[in-house]
Amino acid sequence: MPKETAAINPFETARRQVDIVCDLIGVEGGMRDILKNPKRELTVNFPVRMDDGSLKVYTGYRVQYNMARGPTKGGIRYHPNVSLDEVRALAAWMTWKCAVVNLPYGGAKGGIICDPKHMSKGENERLTRRYASEISMIIGPEIDIPAPDVYTDSQTMAWIMDTYSQQKGYSVPGVITGKPIALGGSEGRNEATGRGCAYTIREAAPHAGVRVKGGTVAVQGYGNAGSICAKILYDEQGAKIVAASDSKGGIYNPQGFNPHAVEEHKNKTGSVVGFPGAKPISNEELLELKVDVLVPAALENVITKKNADNIQAKIIGEAANGPTIPEADEVLYQKKIVVLPDILANAGGVTVSYFEWAQDIQGFFWSLKEVNDRLERVMVQSYEAVRKEAEARKINNRTAAYVVAINRVVNAIQLRGIYP
Ligand code: NAD
Repeated sequence: MPKETAAINPFETARRQVDIVCDLIGVEGGMRDILKNPKRELTVNFPVRMDDGSLKVYTGYRVQYNMARGPTKGGIRYHPNVSLDEVRALAAWMTWKCAVVNLPYGGAKGGIICDPKHMSKGENERLTRRYASEISMIIGPEIDIPAPDVYTDSQTMAWIMDTYSQQKGYSVPGVITGKPIALGGSEGRNEATGRGCAYTIREAAPHAGVRVKGGTVAVQGYGNAGSICAKILYDEQGAKIVAASDSKGGIYNPQGFNPHAVEEHKNKTGSVVGFPGAKPISNEELLELKVDVLVPAALENVITKKNADNIQAKIIGEAANGPTIPEADEVLYQKKIVVLPDILANAGGVTVSYFEWAQDIQGFFWSLKEVNDRLERVMVQSYEAVRKEAEARKINNRTAAYVVAINRVVNAIQLRGIYP
């Protein structure tokens, strides 16, 4: 059964962010209330047959936050700490993320309170199929298109696509994104978050007085987003990767290292730690290195009031969600550090999810080059929109990204003349 949320309620945080931006751009009354409330919420309690023959009832959610700009989009999370307020907050953030990169989508999110680490593959499949069936009345290519999130992957998406298609009587690949390529997934989806982040870093460099070619980069969290961003900065932009870390620790070599070799080392040994020629460094030290670019790509709340003043990077590309706490933002802004906020910097993933959906609906698939070229256009235009807003209003990039996003949603609501 649902667990109550802990000290900081993420939905309260999400609502506070809306208030701050509404104060800034003068949105009041009913319009502000629309932006602060989810449009539609579904809670489902459903039984799953476990391997030992017992029945267990799970609780799942799907929240569709705002659909003024189009069908809603957002991942599905499997975690013991999932709560309705967390899903509401994540759905709100998806709304702003889709709007800041100008996708024709609203935001949504889903989750199941469960512990997938202690479930067999069969249990996970039965859980997924039953949840998909329970929420099938509110998802679909024209309504709401889920995707992977914490502890869900392309296999989970394949099961959801199959369950939904069984109900319809025909294959509906566009109901979900992040699918295997064989089922209508997109080229380039796997690397899209890291690639999108690398594009925004490249665009921000001249405004931060940085040359990416030969410039130094530190990456916290050498997983999907972080390692791919490092490889693209190295391969395509000539950057020097000098530090990387994971949950076991970090490595540092001021001469730089080959990020592909670090990945091989991590695949072989389970960690970046012990990479030949690099010295050990803690995750905290990595954040404070004198580098041109810092890419936090692991956890939330790692740049705080305590360490913000010690950050020496000139650009922070937030591949992770929520790595910087709001109080630290102002410190970084005063230090003239160019922050590429998460809703912009890691939006490459949802952007290529949008491409996947568009390809599924057309039944016509694009080459990797076409996907990457289109992604590049989206990221460049979105960065420019945020930069211009920040400059015009003399505000930090995060607030500017929210201003761009919320203005677009408000505009859609006004044009429709209804309150979606
Ligand atoms: P991942 O699991 O592939 O990688 C996470 C990495 O962080 C791992 O290398 C892990 O060892 C490391 N890590 C964990 N704890 C750490 C710690 N205490 N200190 C340093 N490193 C630590 O996950 P991912 O998909 O790359 O996601 C990383 C972040 O990017 C998350 O915040 C996620 O929400 C965000 N993000 C990812 C995508 C995507 O498409 N993958 C899209 C948008 C946002």
